[in-house]
Amino acid sequence: MTEQMQSFKGAHAIVLGGGIAGLATAGTLTRHFAEVTLIERDRYPDRADVRQHTPHGAHVHILLAGGLVTLSRLIPELASWLDEMGRDEADLTHHTRVAYEGRWLPRARSGVPIRPCTRAEVEQLLLRNVRRHASIRVLDGSTVQSLVGDGRITGVKFTREGVSDVLSADLVVDAMGRGTPSRRWLEAAGLSAVEELTVDAGVVYASAWFEPPKGIDDDWVALATLPAIPREPHMGVAIRFGPDRMLCSAIGYGSPRPPRTIDEMAHRMEALCVPHLARLVRASKATSDVVVYANTQNRWRRWGRLPRFPDGLVIIGDAVCSLNPRYGQGMTVASLGAERLDRELDAHFARHGNLTGFSHRFQRSLEAVLAVPWQIALMEDRSWVSVLSGAAPSPLSKLVLAGSQRVLQTAFSDIDTYIRFMRLAHLLDAPTRMLAPRTLARIARGGHRAGEPEAPSIGLA
Ligand SMILES: Cc1cc2nc3c(=O)[nH]c(=O)nc-3n(C[C@H](O)[C@H](O)[C@H](O)COP(=O)(O)OP(=O)(O)OC[C@H]3O[C@@H](n4cnc5c(N)ncnc54)[C@H](O)[C@@H]3O)c2cc1C
Repeated sequence: MTEQMQSFKGAHAIVLGGGIAGLATAGTLTRHFAEVTLIERDRYPDRADVRQHTPHGAHVHILLAGGLVTLSRLIPELASWLDEMGRDEADLTHHTRVAYEGRWLPRARSGVPIRPCTRAEVEQLLLRNVRRHASIRVLDGSTVQSLVGDGRITGVKFTREGVSDVLSADLVVDAMGRGTPSRRWLEAAGLSAVEELTVDAGVVYASAWFEPPKGIDDDWVALATLPAIPREPHMGVAIRFGPDRMLCSAIGYGSPRPPRTIDEMAHRMEALCVPHLARLVRASKATSDVVVYANTQNRWRRWGRLPRFPDGLVIIGDAVCSLNPRYGQGMTVASLGAERLDRELDAHFARHGNLTGFSHRFQRSLEAVLAVPWQIALMEDRSWVSVLSGAAPSPLSKLVLAGSQRVLQTAFSDIDTYIRFMRLAHLLDAPTRMLAPRTLARIARGGHRAGEPEAPSIGLA
């Protein structure tokens, strides 16, 4: 064995599914395994594009600041690659303009970086990282059929161009997204039933690409309206990618009938709390049809809570916890999971010198990563579920909702509170930062109506 081999924790790791979670993980595993194989069902397109098995990529995706920072830790060259693509750094609270209950939140520089990218672009960047590692073999166009192993997972069975094959590995990572069959496979193999939490607020996306009008004389990269419980179940988002391309999504709670045409989309935007998005859509030239997506429930499989979990397997990304996408957390959570796996492999190996017991330890550790994003998503979604079903919200959900509405009201006239709120929503800071005495005092005083923030001009007469 060479000296370099000795520093690895295993000879081979296999990543199942090459979406955001799988690609981010494959890159980090090169530090720990001599060889890494990534098995992806689709063939990767030559340029950033929506793939057959990732139709969600056609909808607005925001890489939260927390995700950008995490991915930049995992891939130090990321910032320069984004520059090359023309995805310049923007300021979260200056270039993103958010309206709530008919008023625009303030515009201020927070120093928090964001980069407007499509999901497909994030994927291309992660694939670029994966492809520069000689130790990663990408088997795209290959479909995972089952896990292999008895007690311990030792490999995977898959098909490629109609031919079945089996690969062995020291570690198999399930990153097959919301539709992963791993629960079915593991329970059929005798593992105890996993606790599964679900909250479905019936969120539906309808999205289309546009060429915006020329000469928009305002430097926003993203315009968004927030929904407001209980009166406003709809929201709209527009993201600009340079001067000629804009992706818009109309998003609604309560399983609304989605707009199917550009005209219906503009009509839906007209019902939002500010007129800007509708005017923008009407003034732009549509360059795609409207596409719809409705598989958006929050679902968390608590693998870390099982008394036993098989060695040789870990599960990450949407395959463990998929969140209502309206909070924009999925890619960030996938990146945080990949980073946690990286750290836990080091910690476990330093202590035990092998991978025995690692899988269970990792799934338990991942629970801590998922707890905050889950609470953020459920804070509003639980209330929406009550409102939409006509049931009375629980006292706790009423309290939480009143608190978050108070924070937003304060944010209109208090930049500091607004920035703190956005840092929390972008998974940069722990929720406890909102509980600092100075912040609590400001929130208790609440906002005032004076000094209405200037609305974005969006360049239209
Ligand atoms: C409408 C919508 C909007 C969203 N907006 C945002 C947003 O604004 N910000 C954000 O961060 N996140 C957003 N998300 C969530 C985000 O897309 C995901 O959380 C994120 O991409 C992580 O997904 P993943 O890699 O775990 O799974 P996926 O992206 O689902 O990837 C799973 C991969 O596994 C492959 N696969 C599945 N089965 C097999 C098999 N049997 N064999 C081989 N390969 C297989 C699939 O082809 C796919 O490539 C949104 C999601 C939706 C639905």
